[in-house]
Amino acid sequence: MVVEAYILFLGACVGSFLNVCIVRLPKEQSVLRPPSHCVSCKKPIAWIDNIPLFSYLILGGKCRHCKARYSIRYFVIELITAISFFGLYKFFGLTLVTVAYWIMISGFIVATFVDFEHRIIPDEVSIGGMFVGIALSAFIPALHQSEFAHVGFGGFLAGLMVVICLALTLFPSLFTPTSEVQDQSDDRGIKILVAVSLLFISGVNFFAAYIPPALLPYALSLSAALSGYIVGGGAIYLMGLVGDVIFKKESMGGGDVKLMAMVGAFLGWKLALLAFFIAPFFGAVYGVIEKIRTKDSAIAYGPFLVLGSLLSLFYGNQIIQWIINGYRF
Ligand SMILES: [Zn+2]
Repeated sequence: MVVEAYILFLGACVGSFLNVCIVRLPKEQSVLRPPSHCVSCKKPIAWIDNIPLFSYLILGGKCRHCKARYSIRYFVIELITAISFFGLYKFFGLTLVTVAYWIMISGFIVATFVDFEHRIIPDEVSIGGMFVGIALSAFIPALHQSEFAHVGFGGFLAGLMVVICLALTLFPSLFTPTSEVQDQSDDRGIKILVAVSLLFISGVNFFAAYIPPALLPYALSLSAALSGYIVGGGAIYLMGLVGDVIFKKESMGGGDVKLMAMVGAFLGWKLALLAFFIAPFFGAVYGVIEKIRTKDSAIAYGPFLVLGSLLSLFYGNQIIQWIINGYRF
């Protein structure tokens, strides 16, 4: 009971910080300075008025000084984060894996709300999250335990994707030069990172017999995260290239590529690939509704990738088993 209450409160506190990120990251402001203040009267918010969930209820969603109304979104995000933390704890127990997923879901929440409002996903969340996912994988082998038997295939798939991407980009005349996914491939840092990652994955696979048994789980887990971010990001990147050719206009944002790279780093290549295939089902339904409503066919795709990733996280292994069994339970 105490643990449950503590986790709910921890989630609400993190949610309070995510609120700051959602408002400030798209404006490229610091999330640490200045401290929370009322946007209306500029007065700093005292700690007693900044207690997640409770302060909003006690003050009726208004500033103590100038009575300006605060958006209900602040309260909702604190609540969503608290419930997410609690749900992950109930599902995965009080483990390091759960802590890693808490970090991942925090990134998901920021990405979702920022993408809906501004049609961008901040690099701090996607690229930052990807590196955090890779780093955590190196220390928490349990994150990728179920992938260990398939690390070799994941590395092969990652390599194959890179080869296909290279082959496609050898024919630049096929693609519109303004394409955002295309711009991403010009980033030298990404190319070096991908090359080093592929080298590491194949190294671990070739020399597995020589790696001390105590270290092997960590090396395999890191390999799984590395093939995960390449396969996750690569799937969206390839879809973007194909979409550019078919629709003759930019179809996938670079933010989506980076978001799925983050998902792959945390979930591994199998679950990331599954999320990639689940997302369009939700995205298509919403896209049709939005097209009728606003006559605008471009939608924020990030939130649907997040939705697909969450389904993949909780039920992915069952879904994969169901597919392997020929769609029979
Ligand atoms: Zn105020």
